[in-house]
Order: sequence, then structure tokens, then C-alpha cells
Amino acid sequence: MSNIRFDSIKRAMEHRIINVEAPAGKVKDYYAINVFTRERMQEYIAPDVLAILFDDVDNGRTIHREIAGSVAIGIRKWAIEHGATHYTHWFQPLTGGTAEKHDAFFTLRDGALVEEFSGDSLYQQEPDASSFPSGGIRNTFEARGYSAWDPSSPVFLIGDTLCIPTVFVAYTGEALDYKTPLIRSTVALSRAAREVCSLFDKQVKRVRINLGWEQEYFLVDEALFHARPDLMLTGRTLMGHESAKNQQLEDHYFGAIPERVLAFMRHLEYEALKAGIPVRTRHNEVAPNQFEMAPIYEDINLAIDHNLLIMSIMERVAQQHHFRVLLHEKPFAGVNGSGKHCNWSLQTNTGTNLLAPGKNPYQNLQFITFLVNVLMAVHRHNGLLKASIVSATNEHRLGANEAPPAIISVFLGKQITEVLDKLENTAADKGVIINAKKEMKLGVANIPEILLDNTDRNRTSPFAFTGNRFEFRAVGSSANCGAAMLALNAAVAEQLSLFKAEVDARIDKGEPKERVLFDIIKKYIVACKPIRFDGNGYSDEWKREAQERGLDCETSVPVIIDRYLKPESVQMFHATGVLSEAELHSRCEVKWATYSKKIQIESRALGDLVVNHVLPAAKRYQTMLLQNVQAVKQVFSADETASLNEMDYSIIRQIEHHSGAILDGVQRMTEARHKANRQPDERSKALAYHDTVLPLMAEIRSHADALELIVDDQMWTLPKYRELLFIH
Ligand code: ADP
Ligand code: MG
Repeated sequence: MSNIRFDSIKRAMEHRIINVEAPAGKVKDYYAINVFTRERMQEYIAPDVLAILFDDVDNGRTIHREIAGSVAIGIRKWAIEHGATHYTHWFQPLTGGTAEKHDAFFTLRDGALVEEFSGDSLYQQEPDASSFPSGGIRNTFEARGYSAWDPSSPVFLIGDTLCIPTVFVAYTGEALDYKTPLIRSTVALSRAAREVCSLFDKQVKRVRINLGWEQEYFLVDEALFHARPDLMLTGRTLMGHESAKNQQLEDHYFGAIPERVLAFMRHLEYEALKAGIPVRTRHNEVAPNQFEMAPIYEDINLAIDHNLLIMSIMERVAQQHHFRVLLHEKPFAGVNGSGKHCNWSLQTNTGTNLLAPGKNPYQNLQFITFLVNVLMAVHRHNGLLKASIVSATNEHRLGANEAPPAIISVFLGKQITEVLDKLENTAADKGVIINAKKEMKLGVANIPEILLDNTDRNRTSPFAFTGNRFEFRAVGSSANCGAAMLALNAAVAEQLSLFKAEVDARIDKGEPKERVLFDIIKKYIVACKPIRFDGNGYSDEWKREAQERGLDCETSVPVIIDRYLKPESVQMFHATGVLSEAELHSRCEVKWATYSKKIQIESRALGDLVVNHVLPAAKRYQTMLLQNVQAVKQVFSADETASLNEMDYSIIRQIEHHSGAILDGVQRMTEARHKANRQPDERSKALAYHDTVLPLMAEIRSHADALELIVDDQMWTLPKYRELLFIH
């Protein structure tokens, strides 16, 4: 009898390195060739039109509709010259990923084929929105959804298709996507940060939010992938016994990249660079067959578009190398999961990074001001920030041994901690000395010079300060990181506004500015202390301590989602104009529904795996053992038979035990699913999936994994962990 596992291993071993030639020229010759960059626009669009366009974009205004026609003509000309036949609005629905609907560039006019792409087609489209989740928004208001051009992110080509980054909103203006609130959050944060900057530097006109993501992923050979229905349907292994060797020796991390993988990475980088994604870093990650790529940071809106784009490019390129890329947060139990660390910072138009220590005391006071306000925001909204990163897939990663814990805290490192401690313990009147020249001098000796040691890292922290930026490490590898970034932006925007109002009120009363700043910062340092934690985030002591500190320690994803609807979250999103209460409700509905659906699919897939793969293999092996027992009985005397068959008896009983437990578990799991599906609303359904279906899946898995260790290797049909993790 042929065995699909051995067939797939054989095919995987036959997959060779596929070296793809680099694009002609130097990197700068092909960088962003598939993007309609500002430089290119100058060739295709009239200067007066461009002036209006750039002015609108740079000042965050809605684009003057009357220029759309001229811009569209330029875009079409460029796209067609570069082989495009179709165009699509490219948007970010709440399902995750991106959505596109291609239309050809031509139309029929009086029976004749003419090229067409109007200002209207650029500006706005009405995709059939009914198939995208809206969490009730479209039912209560109006069925239509619109996608509308986001000119701050340039249009680009994928193959023969021109992609136009767009927002996706309901007829009434409610957001149905991630990009809309992300843009609103950058406007709010940029404004609030600029106002705080005005306390320090009147030159600052704009503050840009930067994001540099790091994308972790696994690669699995496609032949093995296709022999694992769970990987195909859910992106993770629902069962599989740990491999004898996995990451214990830590020999994969930063090790030499396997040749076949390296060929894939190079190819991926060529495609990324052509798409204008400034990828720079590649390396092996901790788990076997786990890797990472990271670009140079960019404006947050563009960076998120680029991340979504790279995720789809990765899948396409991987297939050409006979790999499948796994973006799931936890494809394999027992080894590291994958994150998408989001490196986040604020930068002024004058070139100052507001999260980097400066050269003089004044700049450092500004730095400390922003740092402490971020701490305050994260502290006040730690539950919400956790809600912004949870999902059915990231749930397996959070709190596991080698991933950010399910409690949000901030790691600052030794030096910054010392600076804050010192500030906290300095009397207000000693803190600031204004000298004769009216320059401000801080009495605290350490403030003027903050030299950071960038090696001061803590891998267990979900939110870490890393010298000149914060790194939100809890974000999941498969997520649209816009969800997390918009929550962070909004929380910090709100906090900065509160700070500014407090400062202004006291200055208005005649108090000196420096004194006021110092005073309030001191107060904040004390107030947000509970969020600071430099210890081991995985330890049980921390879980206890975090509870005492009043941090959000909830671990159930459906309950964590509630944090979006807490009065302080609703108020914060409202005050910053990022999401209305109706939009928040709709998002929660979608999150709960997606959660239930994912677990439903996993649960069904697991049922299929154990009943149709595991049990038949176990039965075959058991039958073989039973036949052996019979044969022994025929050959040997009764006395001898008992001892000769002892081992077989034991294995037969073990198989019986685990098989019985599996069948029983599957039955209970199916019932639990049916019960969950009958729940009256999405939240209760998600809770039921979390509380009743997930635990049964774990129980069934433990028996299936036990059988994997018992059953004859030749009879096992599903590729094992050692094969999935070590063949490349
Ligand atoms: P590490 O793994 O050591 O954290 P990587 O080099 O893998 O660092 O990735 C760091 C990411 O942080 C890159 O995307 C980089 O461009 C980005 N980054 C560096 N400085 C900043 C900054 N000031 N603001 C935002 N992102 C930054
Ligand atoms: Mg890294």
C-alpha cells in the first residue's frame, strides 16, 4: 500500500535550488520600478495638477476631485506602457489580508473598444461589499460599500494589474476596513504630537509616524504541505508529536541560511525591491525552518500597505520555489511562534526623532516627555492594546513559553529606568534651573546625557523601548498590523492631548513652563509605574504581580475583545476621531465571528484528521499486532505465549485506550460545536468555542500525538514534525 507521507517526502527531496537571476543593473536601477513614484508622476502629470495633488497629500487633506481626471490619465499611460491590462482598488477588509476586483482598462463605446480609466474610477469604486464582514454596519444603515483612493500611498503594479490603495467605507462613511481608522489615527497623533512639540520647538510643523515591521514566517516544502490537510486548511498543524530535536540547540537562529531558502529569499527581495519595499534584513529565526525579513522603516500608512503586499508576494514567490509560506502565529506546537514586531517612532519635519535622546537637556526633556506619555498611554489602555493584537491564531502564541505574555507591560532597560527613577526622586524646585541667559538647565545630572546601550534587550517583553523607538512585539505574524497601530496611535494621541491641556492650564495661571513640564512628568512617572517591567514576562511570579499592579491579565480572546467597548476605550476613540462607537461594535462583532469560524474550521479539520488518518493507521498497526499474537500462540506453548506476547498486549491496549479516547473526544467536540453554533450572538458563540471546543481539541490532540509515538512509522500517513521542520 502506498503511503502519502513517504511519497511526499520523496517529492520534497527532489525539489532543487531554483536560482533566479537578479534584475538587470544595480538596486537603485530597479528599486520601485513597479511603483508610480513622485518622480515618475512628474513625467506623466502636468506640474500644476501635481502641485495641487502633493499639497493635498502632504497636508492630509481630501484630494480636490477636479484633478482626479488628469491624474488618472497620467496613471493609465504609465501603467499601460508597463504592460498593465487591468486595474483594481486594493483595500484592507476586516477579514484580514487585502481585497481586489480587477477591471480591464478598456470599455466599449459605440461598439468600438476604447481605453478607459477615468478620474471616477480612480477616485471611487463600489465593489460588491456584501461579501465582506461589516459587523452589522451595513444591515443597520445601507447595503453599499465604497472604496476610495488613498493618494498618500502610491499606486503600483502587480503583474498586469494596476493596484490603487484605497479605503473601504460604508455608504454612511463608517469604516469597513483597517486603513480608514489607521489614517484617522495618524492625523490625530500627528496633530497632538505637533502641539506638544510646540512647547519645545516652534519650528515643528508636522510629525510623522514611522513603522518598521519585522515579518517572521515558516517555510514548508509544498509536497509535505499538501500531505497535511491541517496546514492546507488552517495554516497550522493541529496535531503532531514534538520532534526529538527541535530548537534546543539554538543552532538555527542566525545560522547559515539553507541554499534553497536563500534562493527564495533573494527572489523575494528582488520582487519586494521592485515594488518599492525597502527590504534590508533577512535571517534564520529561532525555530527550525523559521525565518524573518525586515525592511527599513517608512511612514506608517505606507509601511502597512507594504507589509500586506509583501505577505502576498511571499506566498507567490514561495510557490515558485516549491515552498509554502506559513504566516500563522503558531504553526507548530513546542517551538517558537511567529510575530510581526512593529518598531514605532515619531519624527518631526525638522528631522528629530521624538523617541531618541537628544544632544542637550532641552531635547532630552522633550524626549522624556514623549517617552513618559507613551508609557502613560500604554498603561491606561493596556487591555485595549492587548485586544488590538489578539485573534484565534495569535492566541496560541501569547503566553506560550517563547512568546510575549498575555499581559501588556513595557520594558525600558537599565539606563532609561535610572533616568526615570532619578527624575521621580528629585524635588521639583531642584529639578529645573533657569539660568541668567534664560536657558533651561535640568538639575538632574543624568538628563543631559543619555547614552543608550542598544544591546539591552528583553525578548519576553510585549512592548519594549529599543533605544530610539518602541517595539510592539506582541503583534501576530499573520495580522494586519494596522489594527494594533491604530490603537496605539489613538491612545498616544489622546494622552498627548491630555498632557498638553494640563500643561497649558498651568502655564496660563502664570507658572513657568519648565517647572510645569517637570512637575507633570514627575507625576506621570509615578502614575504609570505599574506598566514598567524589566523582568521575565514568562514567569508565574509576574502573572501574580501584574494582577496586583492592576494590569489586564485576561487570557480568553473573546473576553479580551470586550476591551474595545470599555467606556474609556470608547471615549478615547471618540475623542481622537478614530472610531465611533458604532464602528467599535461592528469591529467586535467581526472579531468574535472570525474567531468562532476559525476554531470551527480547525475543529472540523482535526476531527477529519484523527478519524480518517490517525485511527485507520492505529487500527492497521493494532491488527498487525493481533495477528502476531495469534501466530505466537500457534507456535509456542501456552506458558511461553504469555510472556512472549506481553509487549504486544501492552501496545494493543494503549492503542485501544487512545483510539477510544479520540472517538469519544471527537463526539463530544462535535456536540460542543453544535451547541456553540446555537448561541444567540457572536460573543457568546466565540466564548463557547473558546471555553468548550478549544479544550477538547487539545485533549484529542494529546491522544493522537501519543499514538504517533506508538504506531509503526511505516504506517503513519501524515508528515511528522521532524519532516516538516527539517526538510528544506
Ligand atoms: P531587531 O531584530 O534587532 O529589533 P531589525 O533590524 O530586525 O532589528 O529590525 C528593526 C526594524 O526597526 C527595521 O524595520 C528598522 O528599519 C526599524 N527601525 C529602526 N529605527 C527605527 C525608528 N527610529 N523608528 C521606527 N522603526 C525603526
Ligand atoms: Mg529582528
